[in-house]
Amino acid sequence: MPTLSELTTALDALWPAGRAESWDAVGTVCGDPDAEVGTVLVAVDPVQAVADEAVRLGADLLLTHHPLYLRGTTTVGAHTFKGRVVHTLIKADTALHVAHTNADRADPGVSDALAGALDLRVLAPLVPDPDDPQGRRGLGRICELDTPLSLAAFAQHAAAHLPATAQGVRAAGDPDAMIRRVAVCGGSGDSLFEQVRAADVDAYLTADLRHHPASEAQERSPLALVDAAHWATEWPWCEQAAAQLDALSERHGWGLRTHVSRLVTDPWTAHAASGLHHDYEYPGAPN
Ligand SMILES: [Zn+2]
Repeated sequence: MPTLSELTTALDALWPAGRAESWDAVGTVCGDPDAEVGTVLVAVDPVQAVADEAVRLGADLLLTHHPLYLRGTTTVGAHTFKGRVVHTLIKADTALHVAHTNADRADPGVSDALAGALDLRVLAPLVPDPDDPQGRRGLGRICELDTPLSLAAFAQHAAAHLPATAQGVRAAGDPDAMIRRVAVCGGSGDSLFEQVRAADVDAYLTADLRHHPASEAQERSPLALVDAAHWATEWPWCEQAAAQLDALSERHGWGLRTHVSRLVTDPWTAHAASGLHHDYEYPGAPN
């Protein structure tokens, strides 16, 4: 069995901490570098339910995409919900390690996993890392569908291929517009509209799209938007990361047992579809 420090050295080769955004907080949150690691749980969010799952599994390491602490803290007391997570993990000898924006920009990265889950062919990063001579690392991915779909059908396709959430998938734009080229970005991607526009795609699939950025992007010129739950767009990375861990384990003869959490930690838990309102209509919709 590897020690935590041997394992995190290997993880740092997959997702170098130096490639994380300057505001990010990646790496080991808690854990003894000399402790042996036999079982790993991979999840999106280091929330209490996931910490409890890690303990139930007897995991020695919980690997998450989202940081527990993004800003500094003066307490890990169990009277705070984050401190409670730290206590739960430390009492069970479970380490916590985070790969966030360094995993977003990796090759393969979070958006490669998202594209894979959607059966999309990746062409290039949406925002390439200038220091990658191969041009494969960076934020988001520009992709192609093997068979073009209408926007409505593509949204259905995304809903069917991403893990189920209360939010489901919503789309903006002409439901009949044909979608061939798609940009995808796992997580909150509404800061990348300029790059999406430059990529000459028919649609952009991401999460957390807000009214004004979405409305302004639509007004400028037709661009179909597909908005999925934040957690659902990043969850495919957990399976990708677990497969990468399995490959490392194989190569080093570590005999790691890797698990992927299937707890839906998206905060939204219910969805009420609007009924038909005959008093309202979408612009351009047939009467
Ligand atoms: Zn995220």
